[in-house]
Amino acid sequence: MDNQKLAELLFPHIDKTPADYEAMYPQRDLPEGAMVTRMGPSPTGFIHLGNLYGAFVDERLAHQSGGTFYLRIEDTDDKRYVEGAVETITSALRFFDIQFDEGAAAEGEETRGAYGPYYQSQRAEIYQAFVKDLVLRGQAYPCFLTEEELAEIRAEQEANKETTGIYGKYARCRDLTLEEIEANIQAGKPYVMRIRSKGNIIDPDHCCHETGGTCTTRSGAKCVNHDGVMYIHVQDAVRGEVAMPANDQDVVILKANGIPTYHFAHVVDDHLMRTTHVVRGEEWLMSLPIHVELFDKLGFPLPTYCHTAVLMKLDEETGGKRKLSKRKDPELSLDYYRREGYHPQAVKEYLLTILNSNFEEWRMADPDASIDDFRFTTEKMSSAGALFDLDKLNDVSKDVLLRTPADELASFMIGWAEEFRPELLPLLAGDAGASGESDVSGAAASAYGPEYLAKILDLGRDGKKPRKDLIYARQIFDFICYFFDECFKIEEPVPEEVSDEDAREILQRYLDSYDHSDDQSQWFDKIRAIAVDMGYAAKPKDYKKHPEDYKGHVGHVSTVIRLAVMGRTQSPDVWEIQQILGEERTKARIGALLV
Ligand code: GLU
Repeated sequence: MDNQKLAELLFPHIDKTPADYEAMYPQRDLPEGAMVTRMGPSPTGFIHLGNLYGAFVDERLAHQSGGTFYLRIEDTDDKRYVEGAVETITSALRFFDIQFDEGAAAEGEETRGAYGPYYQSQRAEIYQAFVKDLVLRGQAYPCFLTEEELAEIRAEQEANKETTGIYGKYARCRDLTLEEIEANIQAGKPYVMRIRSKGNIIDPDHCCHETGGTCTTRSGAKCVNHDGVMYIHVQDAVRGEVAMPANDQDVVILKANGIPTYHFAHVVDDHLMRTTHVVRGEEWLMSLPIHVELFDKLGFPLPTYCHTAVLMKLDEETGGKRKLSKRKDPELSLDYYRREGYHPQAVKEYLLTILNSNFEEWRMADPDASIDDFRFTTEKMSSAGALFDLDKLNDVSKDVLLRTPADELASFMIGWAEEFRPELLPLLAGDAGASGESDVSGAAASAYGPEYLAKILDLGRDGKKPRKDLIYARQIFDFICYFFDECFKIEEPVPEEVSDEDAREILQRYLDSYDHSDDQSQWFDKIRAIAVDMGYAAKPKDYKKHPEDYKGHVGHVSTVIRLAVMGRTQSPDVWEIQQILGEERTKARIGALLV
């Protein structure tokens, strides 16, 4: 076969060679040990927690080592393209403060980096130049098998209980002559390009012809003879050494439309873009032998692979572990966290707890350190399914929010409302957020605002046992909404120890003696005095000992007040709440129950 002729016949329009591309995309000028990572999403418009999980690993590895993290859009399957998908990806990651240094840019943004194009759909000529080179070297060939023929081969293999695919005697187009190929092309028959796999049966002249013999392939993988079958052994940064039979399939590298398969695009792109670490989901692990053979054939060194564990959750129905599913688990979508108003730091910190087994210990030793100071390593990543648990995320979030200054938390809440609950803006942002049509009265709106909100959020957060009940914006708003007259309502009944008449009297006495400048102990002394005066025990334990002597105790009396001021029985300190509500609003709430 005249490979030169075949290469020209198949790729007459390709005039660049691999050497030209090697020169166009030189080694990156980065410090020793700097890692180059990438995210390679398909532009389907859906970005999920798994993507964030992987991107976070990429980002940490690159930025911790002074390297580069870039975005490459894997759009070789145009059926899946969704308008605006790049913007969806970049904005979702930006929200979590994960920034790309280079790569595909959303519309209107400038592309950064000298290793593009960063859309695979714009790289057809590059891939074809490498395929042409493989043809020249007798390592790739056109395959004209039709869908029917492929189905027939598959049926035969299934009937014989053989591995399916195109290899050995099933690779019917491997040995077509140049004339046959020319005739097929002239007849307009569609074709794909396949590699001519070297197979995995060790022949007698192979350097590793003895069982147990090892050598190194061109790409740097270890090759081991396991009873006459060649295995490749690759050092995965997450899983350690992985061993699998070498590839023996003549896999497709270019589809009939001249666009590469994932396998080929991965190898060419990650080489030319000088990726050092390929972080991807474990679903790609089984294709690794194909990739090793492609790296070998192209003469490129293997990058370091990091095959990350799939995100799992405990299934409520079965109690077993299962993969997170787009259909069943809304929390798989990144949008979910934004809509609910999770703080991005909380989500990131939580992800670190499932990504690195030593993170929690580090956090306990240094509760105030920035997570960027944590040294993330692939060795501490679990290779078994990572268990995602919303309750645990909520716990982490409580701690993260406790460390977030109240004014920052207030701006975060306002930002969330702007995007997802604009009707709450007049309450959360006050005048600044009140629109012309708002039904919040001028007086109320002017009392509300970021400062008011920050005071509310800061309530009960200092001291030895700080409150940990703030989790995510939507929940926080429900939790604090009694501070806003527009949402305030009495949600629970008064304790049964207190009659309706007594409740009225307690409130009347409380209002009559109310002095907003009382300190906390003066304030409580007054409540105690009202209680004792009306026949309630000054201390709960007195009441417990002699219930027959009292109507109830001081706690029941203060609950009546708590309900009047906040509408609920469980809440932070009433005195502090009144200080935030202000004298006028406090008195108005009590007065409203006395009319
Ligand atoms: N486009 C592939 C995916 O979305 C990327 C895999 C990789 O990172 O290599 O799964």
